[in-house]
Amino acid sequence: MHCPFCNAPDTKVIDSRLANEGDSVRRRRECLTCSERFTTFESAELVMPRIIKSDGSRVPFDDQKLLEGMLKALEKRPVSMEIIENAVSQIKYNLRATGDREVAASRLGEWVMEELKKLDQVAYVRFASVYRSFQDLDEFRQEIERLDKE
Ligand SMILES: [Zn+2]
Repeated sequence: MHCPFCNAPDTKVIDSRLANEGDSVRRRRECLTCSERFTTFESAELVMPRIIKSDGSRVPFDDQKLLEGMLKALEKRPVSMEIIENAVSQIKYNLRATGDREVAASRLGEWVMEELKKLDQVAYVRFASVYRSFQDLDEFRQEIERLDKE
């Protein structure tokens, strides 16, 4: 890459090590022209597809929202946080594995149901019965919140 000091086209890597627990590579570089040194970070680009909601709008994928939706369904159920987080990771993996830039919210909902089915039958039925009549996770969450208040 070009030197940020003199814009010379040739720089050499003088040191390279893993950073952020192995998620990125930190490189020390030296410019062959002006001898200035600088650091670059390199990491894999993991772009999550955007979610197409039932009304056609597109929103960024929000794993916090996903986790909250699952926690609602699993309320008072004997399932550990670690297992729930693994399920969220699996769903995120599914999302990325589509290779698509946009994924329908309904598809996301189906994956949630799939994971809940493996974790806890009650949570699954709870989620499925409510979710099926809704179009996406937001609506589901709002309905659960409404029911909680009654
Ligand atoms: Zn330079």
